[in-house]
Amino acid sequence: MTDTIFHCTQCGLCCRHIDRVPQLAEFDLGNGTCRHLKGNLCDIYDHRPEICQVDHMYEVYFKDKYTKEEFYKLNEEVCHLLQQK
Ligand code: SF4
Ligand code: SF4
Repeated sequence: MTDTIFHCTQCGLCCRHIDRVPQLAEFDLGNGTCRHLKGNLCDIYDHRPEICQVDHMYEVYFKDKYTKEEFYKLNEEVCHLLQQK
């Protein structure tokens, strides 16, 4: 069975490491944390930038390159790297 669910654990770590994401530079508090992170949740979730939307990014930029399963897996690998730090 194909696994097409993105397994976000809401650890919030991606939102605490935005210093390498040029599209989010204006949101960086100066320590890599996004000003919109409240607890581990995004306070502009419904209007968050496209770079923060995994499904949107897939549909617009990556669907010709990867299957959705592959794209989720690549993203989840980054999550795991952050979680191992
Ligand atoms: S690092 Fe991954 S698991 Fe953690 S909040 Fe971000 S997307 Fe979800
Ligand atoms: S806008 Fe929201 S989802 Fe995007 S990095 Fe900031 S807190 Fe995270």
